[in-house]
Amino acid sequence: MLHHAEQVASALAHVFETCTMVPCFPRGVPAVCNQALGRKLNFHTAVLATILSYTTYAMSVLVCFIDGLGLTDPAQPPWTTARLPTLRGLLGAVPTSSLIIDQPALAFRPIDATLGVPGLPQSGTGHTTLWTGVNAAARLGRHYPAYPAPSQRSMIAEHSLFRRCVAAGFRVQLATVHRTPYWELVAQRKQRATAAAFAAQAANLDLPTPADFKAGWAVPWDITGQFLQRWDAFDKADIISPQAAGQRLAQLTSQSDLVHYECYLPDFVGHGRIEAPAELVLELIDAMLAGVLAHLPAHAALIVVSDHGNIEEHEHHRHTFNPVPLLATGAAAPFAASVRALDDVATLIERTLHAQANT
Ligand SMILES: [Zn+2]
Repeated sequence: MLHHAEQVASALAHVFETCTMVPCFPRGVPAVCNQALGRKLNFHTAVLATILSYTTYAMSVLVCFIDGLGLTDPAQPPWTTARLPTLRGLLGAVPTSSLIIDQPALAFRPIDATLGVPGLPQSGTGHTTLWTGVNAAARLGRHYPAYPAPSQRSMIAEHSLFRRCVAAGFRVQLATVHRTPYWELVAQRKQRATAAAFAAQAANLDLPTPADFKAGWAVPWDITGQFLQRWDAFDKADIISPQAAGQRLAQLTSQSDLVHYECYLPDFVGHGRIEAPAELVLELIDAMLAGVLAHLPAHAALIVVSDHGNIEEHEHHRHTFNPVPLLATGAAAPFAASVRALDDVATLIERTLHAQANT
């Protein structure tokens, strides 16, 4: 048996050494495995351990961040007028700010986005809070729109959730397609960097490129590419279905412990920067989640969260004070009950990763 396993490991080691892309085992996995196991074990043994880690207690969390998605009570359009078979089927109800589910493998609750700071919650401080666990709005003394405040970049570098996860030995993978060369565009002031990008930079993580999308490794921030295509920022031939986007995200969890995806579509539509019915946006998210749930491995957990309300109030184009949804499945569900606000979400992700690692 051991002899056979060593043969398999040897063969796979050869694959790693000779191929630049192996669909099931991404770049860096053998290196990560070697690092985790120490130098006493040879390369083939490390590869074998990698195989066993996938087949025995592989652990993973998929985080789907949805920008600008708030909850009301009672539910109102677009929540009540959109066709949402996945969410309705999963939750047994239309999501509202009074819906609380605390089951062993399924949790749903509204969480606070205002962070105890006056004014409408905004993306810059909201994202920074989510991907650091630090209340960025309280630190800054106000909510900061769109991208992280320049004064908060060093704070993101210091408190990056991704950096903590990598340091703890977890494999972290961002899944949102980024323009390229991203950091050169940022340096040239042609692109402003998101909090997630800064948090990834602090962890030395690659940002997915359009080439990664074509290879099946990433998903555009509008889920399908159909809205980006309107701006000629996406090839029409590359548009994917929302179910396929969800399937892709789910399958990435087989090669990483933490997969992070960001969708900005509700916020863009809520602000009127993209013309589309709010119901269509919710239906795309619902269909994406259908793809996720249909293909998410049994061991993997899903966390869905937003940063502030916007699209749920159609009478205006501003953010709202409404709470935002937190959806958690699998190993993440038991920890969701202690999440009250955006600054608790990073802890939720880390507790889930560590809990799965210890099973
Ligand atoms: Zn936002």
